[in-house]
Parts: sequence; C-alpha cells; structure tokens
Amino acid sequence: MEKVRCLIIGGGPAGYTAAIYASRANLSPVLYEGLQPGGQLTTTTDIENFPGFEDGISGQTLMDTMRRQAVRLGADLRNGFVTDADLSSRPFTLTIDGDTRISADALIIATGATAKYLGLESEEKFKGMGVSACATCDGFFYRNRKVAVVGGGDTACEEASYLSNICEKVYMIVRRDVLRASPAMQKKVMDAPNVEILWNCSTKEILGDNSGVTGARLLRKDGEVFDIAVDGFFLAIGHHPNSDLFAGWLETDSNGYIVTDGKTTRTSVDGVFAAGDVQDPMYRQAVTAAASGCMAALDAERFLNS
Ligand code: NDP
Repeated sequence: MEKVRCLIIGGGPAGYTAAIYASRANLSPVLYEGLQPGGQLTTTTDIENFPGFEDGISGQTLMDTMRRQAVRLGADLRNGFVTDADLSSRPFTLTIDGDTRISADALIIATGATAKYLGLESEEKFKGMGVSACATCDGFFYRNRKVAVVGGGDTACEEASYLSNICEKVYMIVRRDVLRASPAMQKKVMDAPNVEILWNCSTKEILGDNSGVTGARLLRKDGEVFDIAVDGFFLAIGHHPNSDLFAGWLETDSNGYIVTDGKTTRTSVDGVFAAGDVQDPMYRQAVTAAASGCMAALDAERFLNS
C-alpha cells in the first residue's frame, strides 16, 4: 500500500491552497480531487470578491490557476474519489474509487459541500429533466424560456440574476417575506425586469410530463394554491457538508459540519484537519475556504514536525 506524509481530499479552493502550502513545506502532498475538480466555484459565473482580481475572474479560471499553481509547486494531484476511510489509528487508511488503498501520516479533509434539495418525489423524478441545482451549468438549456429559482439567499439571487440574462422570465420562490441575501445581491434581482419574486411561497410539487418539467404547484402562506408554468426549476436553498464518510470517526455538528478546535483546523482526531466548506457553516466563501486550506497545511506541518 502506498504511504504518504500528507494526504489532502478535495479539489476546491481549500484543498488546492492546502496543497500549495504543504508543497512549499516539503510535505510532498498527494491530493485527490473528487468528482468535481475545482469544486463549487467551477459552477459559478464571475467572482468579483476574490481579492487580487480588480475586474473579477471566472470561477473556472480561478480554480484552474490555483490548480496549476499547486502542481507547479510539486503537489501530486490525482483523479479519484474517496470511498472509505479508517481513521482509527495512524497512519490513516483511505480507499480511493473502491479499490486503491493509501495511508497517510496526516490527513486534510477539504471535501466541500453539496447543494440541498427540497425532498419532493417529483423533484427526484425530474432531476436532469428540468430540475437542477446549478444555473450556470444548466441555464443555457432554458434560453428564452420560463424558469423558477427556489431560495432567498445569495446563491438564489445570483442564480436568478444569471438566468434573467438568458431566460424570458424568472420566478423566485421565497418562503418568507424577506430575502436573506446581501443588499448588493438583492438589488441585482430587484433591478432585473424579468425577475418576479413570489413571496411567502413553498413548493408543493413540480409538474411535468415525459418531456420534463412543465410547471410547479405552489402554496402561499395565506393558503392559496396556484401553478406557475416553467420549463426549468432551480434549487438554491443551501448546502450539505460532504462529511458523511468521516462522520463516524470525527466530531460533527447537528448539520454534519466537521467540528474544528478553536481557531485551528484540528478535528477531534489527532493528525486529521478539516478546511473549507466541510467545516464552515458560517462564511462559505472561496477566500475563507482558501484561507482555511492554508491553516490546515500549517497545522499539518506543525503536527508532522513535532
Ligand atoms: P443560505 O443558507 O444563505 O440561503 C438559503 C436560502 O434558501 C434562504 O433564503 C432559505 O430561506 C431558503 N431555504 C432553505 N431551505 C428551504 C426550503 N426547504 N424551502 C424553501 N426555501 C428554503 O444559502 P446560500 O447557498 O444562498 O448561501 C450560502 C453562503 O454562501 C452564504 O453565506 C452566502 O452569503 C454565500 N454566498 C455568497 C455569494 C457571493 O458573495 N457572491 C454567492 C453565493 C453564496 P430562509 O431565509 O427563510 O431561511
């Protein structure tokens, strides 16, 4: 079985930054990128709030650049998805893609988070046939058509604003009478003439036929049930941390986020560190994920050299 000093799981800003720092600290890191190399940022449009890019940068370009930086500095980036973990003793043992086993003296978990769904049967039925959790991936298919976005946070506003440039009409389905999003993102949707916010509404059912989604049945707080006609239905109601594989080994909070010790990235198991969205229910920004990736590499370096 291959043995490495520092194993990093996750190809997002946290993982790549950890790889950059761990390489420069001569830890010879190996990083498995998972199912979505580049992470969630590859599914977003322009990023205007990552410092250093005066005119903004596309998520894909930012991640490609971070990735190449890690490779240039000597990190060993590999395709592969971790399917099993044994953190009972050091070195830790992980299984990649069901068959390859690898052990590591220190482990950095940077597996990120995944979009949440409403949990409706009809949502499951029409996944990939009009139901999507990524407007920037799938919005293109709804050019000049009507779509709905569920949620009232920054993601929902970003997605609605993106879709408003492609689609004829965008409904935002918001369960309260306020948006959770930041004022700047709220303004974007308020200013878009083809975005209509349906306040105090929840989705009872997604309607469709053999060709896919045709509409949604909504329930307003006052009890009124009504249908809207849409071809695309986009979820933007938050994320679930990708920690399931480690939940039996590490302390997690009630929502599954890995618990870290104070201001460090140390988890409840010595030698295991967590960085990025998998341990951050609060900030969840590319820049904070990158920063915690840096911290995890520094924590791992201290651990390995102590
Ligand atoms: P949030 O948790 O911030 O918002 C989720 C939204 O979905 C809320 O409006 C919530 O409603 C709603 N919601 C949750 N569950 C349901 C449900 N079952 N049915 C209907 N609506 C539901 O998640 P986001 O993904 O929007 O944002 C996550 C983090 O990422 C935030 O910190 C955000 O600021 C950040 N972000 C920043 C961006 C930027 O700066 N460019 C872009 C995207 C995200 P309610 O308000 O009632 O709870």
